[in-house]
Amino acid sequence: MASKISVLGSTGSIGTQTLDVARMHNLQVTALTANSNIKLLEEQAREFHPKMVAVLDMGAAAQLKIALSDTDIDVFCGEEGIICAAQEETCDTVVNAIVGVAGLLPTLKAIESRKNLALANKETLVSGGKLVMSAIDRFGVKLYPVDSEHSAIFQCLQGCPRNSLKKVILTASGGSFFGKTREDLENVTVRQALTHPNWDMGAKITIDSATMMNKGLEVIEASWLFGCEDRDIDVLIHRESIIHSMIQLKDNAVIAQLGVPDMRIPIQYALTYPRRLPSPTRELDLAEVASMTFYRPDYETFSCLAICRDALRMGGLYPTVANAANEVAVAMFLREQIRFLDIPDIVSETVNQFHENKDNFDLEDILTTDHNTRAKVNEKYGHTSL
Ligand code: NDP
Repeated sequence: MASKISVLGSTGSIGTQTLDVARMHNLQVTALTANSNIKLLEEQAREFHPKMVAVLDMGAAAQLKIALSDTDIDVFCGEEGIICAAQEETCDTVVNAIVGVAGLLPTLKAIESRKNLALANKETLVSGGKLVMSAIDRFGVKLYPVDSEHSAIFQCLQGCPRNSLKKVILTASGGSFFGKTREDLENVTVRQALTHPNWDMGAKITIDSATMMNKGLEVIEASWLFGCEDRDIDVLIHRESIIHSMIQLKDNAVIAQLGVPDMRIPIQYALTYPRRLPSPTRELDLAEVASMTFYRPDYETFSCLAICRDALRMGGLYPTVANAANEVAVAMFLREQIRFLDIPDIVSETVNQFHENKDNFDLEDILTTDHNTRAKVNEKYGHTSL
């Protein structure tokens, strides 16, 4: 079980819920980080007394340094600052709750410093899964999934012989626009896309849920975490988000993990594994849920899911390209520079135009491919206006 944690991205949705768990179980917090939200970061620092905090934005970090000058908390800035937090000497477990591929380098640095990882930042595995998994082996540390679906699979696998897994079944809420046609989605607004039926999450993942890119990213994430091929990963729409995912074993027994949709359950399990401790969440009342529904995904309308599956099958740097194109497209959509349906179109076009794939690649190749993809998407679509 973790006892001293550094929380990267502590001001976000997963970060604040991680601190709820830390508060309940008296975990020591050694470092906290944010992009620019220093108001909340200062409050968190005053409550949890970490040894250090780090802020990506240099100006915001300078302000926080002044604000915390009456404490003995060190304030770091920039990417190096975030990496310092990932390597904080006294911490045993790093919770990575940063959004986007910006979490990759801190993940790798934490592993190199022999920290266990509670990983929410799925883009890390999508873009750099090969490097992360081999570093995990090399440095002999543990990776505990925080994403609810992957935590569910991890929980279902407890006690199953290693070679008994036949397939994983990732459940998906279907997001804000389940059941809609492409025509219906022509003019949907940012506000509509940000209205998720079951989960209260950060903006980027909520848009990813609406396009179903999120489920595509999770298919790739599952392939790294559980050593599965694309064909061994099913996706099933389950509107109620009560079954968080399932596994099917070789004898066709299916094991599911259920619970109320509250991220503090998977976050806590990642931090207390293998122990099961009381939780701040509600109990599940299945009589209140009454019925659960299941559908096959619509791969045509929500084509991001299909694009991610293609990228996984093509391998190499394709997932990096799909992820980078999506990150830029989602940011453009949130700024109302492009329309909702432009997101899958941009991701698909960018992946189709990528011809520099490599099977053997290193961190430099990933970072360069990510950078070049972002530049291309920005150049091509950055000046679009609705
Ligand atoms: P949020 O946007 O709510 O929070 C992101 C956090 O990362 C904030 O602390 C933010 O700081 C910080 N941050 C943003 N950009 C950078 C950057 N470039 N470098 C360093 N820090 C940065 O995201 P979520 O909590 O929703 O998601 C975090 C990760 O967890 C994502 O990968 C997501 O896919 C995954 N996840 C989230 C779930 C959820 O329920 N929210 C469920 C499952 C997975 P600031 O506040 O200053 O902007």
